[in-house]
Amino acid sequence: MLAIPRLSARDDTPFFPPSPVSRLPSPALDIAESYVRLVLAVGRHDGDYVDAYYGPPEWKSETDSVSLTLPEIERRAQELVAEVRDSPTLDPRRKAYLLGQLRALLARVQMLGGTRFSFDQEAGALYDATPPANTEQHFQDIVSRLDGALPGRGPVPERYITYRNQFVIPPARIDAVFQAAIAAGRERTARHIALPPNESFVVEYVTDKPWSGYNWYQGRYRSVIQVNTSLPIYIDRAVDLACHEGYPGHHVYNALVERTLVRERGWLEFTVYPLFSPQSLIAEGTANYGIELALPGSERNAFERDVLFPLADLSPASVDEYYALQTLVRELSYAGNEAARRYLDGEIDAAAAALWLERYALMAPTVARQRIRFFDTYRSYVINYNLGQDLVRAYVEREAGPDADRRWDVFAELLASPTLPSALSDSVA
Ligand SMILES: [Zn+2]
Repeated sequence: MLAIPRLSARDDTPFFPPSPVSRLPSPALDIAESYVRLVLAVGRHDGDYVDAYYGPPEWKSETDSVSLTLPEIERRAQELVAEVRDSPTLDPRRKAYLLGQLRALLARVQMLGGTRFSFDQEAGALYDATPPANTEQHFQDIVSRLDGALPGRGPVPERYITYRNQFVIPPARIDAVFQAAIAAGRERTARHIALPPNESFVVEYVTDKPWSGYNWYQGRYRSVIQVNTSLPIYIDRAVDLACHEGYPGHHVYNALVERTLVRERGWLEFTVYPLFSPQSLIAEGTANYGIELALPGSERNAFERDVLFPLADLSPASVDEYYALQTLVRELSYAGNEAARRYLDGEIDAAAAALWLERYALMAPTVARQRIRFFDTYRSYVINYNLGQDLVRAYVEREAGPDADRRWDVFAELLASPTLPSALSDSVA
């Protein structure tokens, strides 16, 4: 799915490989290489699996030419698990992380071979996390609170959609609004995190995707960020997408992983990013928490009022009301997980899941249908956004306390360390 990028001469020096003759024997390097090759091999069976790869090109070309069967991948992965577990020299956090990633790889291989897990089993196996369960009543209560807060009369979902339609960014203004949001995210991130000097990304506008935005990390501190313009883009998505995909979200996460883990420590397993793995809960959780870290409440409202609303030709007078409502609506985010759980567990069909999303996630019918496509493709991945965000927030706030600078430090450490999701909640418990 991701083409190996063509690199220009002025990019950073390559970190790998040393020439085969000069390469010293290294069990840790062999483990990393075996892991990368296995992830790439799974990618031959699952086009969505390899989210990014910027390691040695020959590892990819050789993997592509062999094309291992799923049972063979499973056998090799189990051998590698034993090798990692028994390694006397591997850094303990690196070891735990590799074992977590390999457990997820084995589960994904089983799924590709036809094994069906329940939603909760799958989330545990792939993302090292336990999704919370919420009753329908829980969401009905939140919708009732919205009933009192929204202008007008009638059913809440329709009223919310009508209200929100006032806040669509006109298509001709989208790029200007996004560029301003990206600049704000970058400026605030750079105050706290020393970014690699040559980091950058390009933004592309695409259509007909199951997601609203995507960061394709290219290696050497470059990303391609794609924004899906098939559906209307509301003004709140500008800061959300700029921070989530860019600063201090996925682009920064990938750049810090590359600088700290790959280049400084030589942990080459981090040159590959398997999407259906615990790494994604950390990536999505930090990307979502990064929004509120970069632009907390009142600061965000001021920026929206002074910069983004005027750029989008929207009335700045409505900023506070709009974001107060958005805060309430965000409490419904777990309604999407419930729809996914019931749909993927076979309790309800696609039409009923779409109806649930319209009723409790307040999605327009077209958006709900796009979301079902997302469930079909990414399945229990949905938990990585809201559960990931909640776990990361709890971890950062617990470790750092109320001091904003300290929160940035803990956040940056988390981005650049091999941390499993269960370690976040262990530390919270
Ligand atoms: Zn994301």
